[in-house]
Amino acid sequence: MTPVEERLRRRILLTGPITVAEYMAACMTDPDGYYARREPFGVTGDFVTAPEITPMFGELVGAWLVNAWMADGRPTPFDLVELGPGRGTLMADILKVARAQPDFFAASRVVLVEASDRLKKVQRERLTPLHPAVRWASGPVGERAIYCVANEFFDALPVRQFVRRGSVWHERTVGLGACGQLVFGLSPFGAPLEQADDAADGTVREVRPRADALMEEIAGAIAAHAKGAALVIDYGYDGLPQDGSAETLQAVRNHQPVDVLADPGFADLSAHVDFAALESAARRSGAAVHGPVGQGTFLLALGLLERAGQLGAGSDAATQEAIHAAVQRIAGEAEGEMGALFKVLAVTARAENVPGFAVEATRERC
Ligand code: SAH
Repeated sequence: MTPVEERLRRRILLTGPITVAEYMAACMTDPDGYYARREPFGVTGDFVTAPEITPMFGELVGAWLVNAWMADGRPTPFDLVELGPGRGTLMADILKVARAQPDFFAASRVVLVEASDRLKKVQRERLTPLHPAVRWASGPVGERAIYCVANEFFDALPVRQFVRRGSVWHERTVGLGACGQLVFGLSPFGAPLEQADDAADGTVREVRPRADALMEEIAGAIAAHAKGAALVIDYGYDGLPQDGSAETLQAVRNHQPVDVLADPGFADLSAHVDFAALESAARRSGAAVHGPVGQGTFLLALGLLERAGQLGAGSDAATQEAIHAAVQRIAGEAEGEMGALFKVLAVTARAENVPGFAVEATRERC
């Protein structure tokens, strides 16, 4: 039994079943949880993120952030914020671009929001040689204007699940089975879920209160300063899937799907990001929203192919082939590629079109 499971069993025995969100939080961020103990990234880990595939990803994100700062009239000083920086690879590539813009670099302080002490250490080693002011904070918002990025962060935040039974929603729970094992259950109490009330019996919905609150906080800071920008990049859906059900919580270990309740703390748990929910959270705070567009559309509009051409020019065939494969992986839209599955949402102070989001992709929602 994993240390997290041991603790969870004791807790449930004492205080009763917990919500799926509480289960997910315990698995991921407990002192013995996934991010504290496991090395999730890379071919030997459980998943590979876009910045770990190629530096071109971080360079284009960096260029987008610099551009947003310039369009705001170069506010000084400001916070360059990353949520869930992992191994620090994305921020390292952003800082490479920032260095070429001395005014941006000098005005910036790097603020990292990271739950895992182990990863904080990795980030410290990687990033403190690249910037004189790197700090860790419990949230993205401080006194200064923020230019912020979150790649594969919101998908890791806990989801609550609700199941439709007859005309009532019930929250899904994790409790103990006859042999003391972890099992899913349903709260006997009806839940007041503000979601389509004509849903069919058995429909599952996921709600992410922590993600919505964070987005409100970020967008609120951008609206209050009338400056700043945030990019959210993740896999997810924009509007509910056709059957109206959204049960997307999954566990992945060594690149393979595994049972969500098996070996808690050893597998990566994540769920698709509900972009429409983030969008309305941002709008509630008075900020402008752009997208979401596919990651492929976004990166190509920012010049991914041109950057790949520059990088490949004059290099040998094997290097060119590797660059081509990386482009295909992060921007291609076929199965197993990230270009369509991953989406990009931007939040800014003003509604003007911003790079990467074609005019027709920017929708007004009431
Ligand atoms: N952005 C990186 C890493 C993505 S993995 C990349 O693209 O490679 C998710 C990251 O979010 C990890 O660094 C993880 O420790 C962090 N994280 C997960 N849940 C968190 C939480 N609730 N608060 C802060 N950081 C969290």
